[in-house]
Parts: sequence; C-alpha cells; structure tokens
Amino acid sequence: MRHRSLLTCLTGLAVLLAAGCGGSGTPEAAAPSSPPPSAALPPEPAPSPTRAEPPKPKLRPLPKKLPTGLVRTTGTAKVALTFDDGPDPAWTPKVLDRLKAAKVHATFCVVGSQVRKHPALLQRIVREGHQLCNHSWNHDMDLGRRPVPEIRADLVRTSREIRRAVPDAKVPFYRQPGGRWTTEVVQVAKQLDMRSLHWTVDPQDWAKPPAATIEKRVKRSARPGSVVLLHDGGGDRAATLAACANLIADLKRDHGVARLT
Ligand SMILES: [Zn+2]
Repeated sequence: MRHRSLLTCLTGLAVLLAAGCGGSGTPEAAAPSSPPPSAALPPEPAPSPTRAEPPKPKLRPLPKKLPTGLVRTTGTAKVALTFDDGPDPAWTPKVLDRLKAAKVHATFCVVGSQVRKHPALLQRIVREGHQLCNHSWNHDMDLGRRPVPEIRADLVRTSREIRRAVPDAKVPFYRQPGGRWTTEVVQVAKQLDMRSLHWTVDPQDWAKPPAATIEKRVKRSARPGSVVLLHDGGGDRAATLAACANLIADLKRDHGVARLT
C-alpha cells in the first residue's frame, strides 16, 4: 500500500507541480479573492480568566463554646422531635404519615430553597399541626460567620418563602445548619422574632447508621425535656424513617412527646 501510494503521488507530481503531493498550500492561500479572516469575523473577545475574582469576605471564627441564648430543651418533662433539611418529596410525606399514625407533633426545620420547590409539602406540615423552624435558605453551614447583613438577608428570605407557601405561618424558631452557632446569628434570629433552637440528642442519622442504631442512640440519650435531632431531607432517610415507629413509641412511653411552642 505504501508503494502504491508513493507511485500515485509521483504520477500526480507531473500534473500538480505547483501544488505538490499532499498540497503545500492551504485552501485559503489558494483563494486570494477571499477576504482575510480578520475582516470576516468579529474580533476575539478578551480572555476572561484574567479578570480578578472579588475578594471573599473573611469569615469570623466560630466560637469555642456554643453562644448563650439557645433553646436546648423543651422546658417540660416531655421530649420534642425535630426534623431538619426538608421539605423533601421522597421522605417528608412518609415522616408525616408516621407522626400522624403515632399521634404526635414535631418541629420541621425547613430549608428555604426546598420550600420554594415543594410549597405543598410545607402546607401539609402546617395543616397537620407541626411547628416550623427556619433552617436558612440553602443550608449554609457558615452563615453564622458571615457579615450580619448577609445573615439577616438569608433568614428573611427563608421566612418569606415559608410565608409565600403558608401566608400566616408562624416561624418561632431558627436552627443554624450544622449547629455552627455564633452570637451574631443568634442575635439576628432574635431580632426577627425567632428563638435559636439547638438540640439535646443527636443520633447522627445524617451519617446513615442502621435504623436500630438510631433507635438505640435516642433511647440511650433521651432525658426529660430532650430535643431530638432527626432529618427528613438532605439525602436518603430510609433508616430514619424505619427508626421512627419504635423510636417514637419508646419516647412516648418513657417521657411523652410534645410539640415545641
Ligand atoms: Zn441541617
């Protein structure tokens, strides 16, 4: 094949002396009537990567201890259930079904961007008598470390979205994502008439341990007045859901379960 190609090339050479074998000139060069590319095309835009990123505001450090002013217990002997990071179309309805079956009420710490996507779920939460808690617009773990006007804007936006779904909704609580509280976020929440809701019992269901582990952790740690942290959003909550029936039955029997007020 190589020899044949060479032969074809040599034969062609006799005819195509100027062009050569394989072509020495480009089509553009062979067509002098075409305008130069620069005249036909708009100029290249200036490369954007050289534009400097705006400097990131420095985050204030997290305090070593939790700030004062956090709600950490129910104030009564009964315990409270809290569900964070929803509303979620896969899990929130199932959690609501469990709560209804057990005849207990809980507090839902909702994420504003999720409320925007699923307003009907928020309506169901309120309709079935549960409490609401603002859990920031987009679950910003560093929100408490940001400038105060940013904190305020985030909390206001989230509460506004909640009230867009349920116009007369009461939002008496704020919970900082990750429990990464600062004095500033507690202050802003207070100015917006929200108490800062922490927790007493964290079975770490977000890390997806088996349902039996979630149940055991709650049972072991719950005391009179405990606030129990669980999740109905933010990922696969099958284990939390599976734990609910036994967990709620245990808490009802041992302490009673009441909605936070
Ligand atoms: Zn959360």
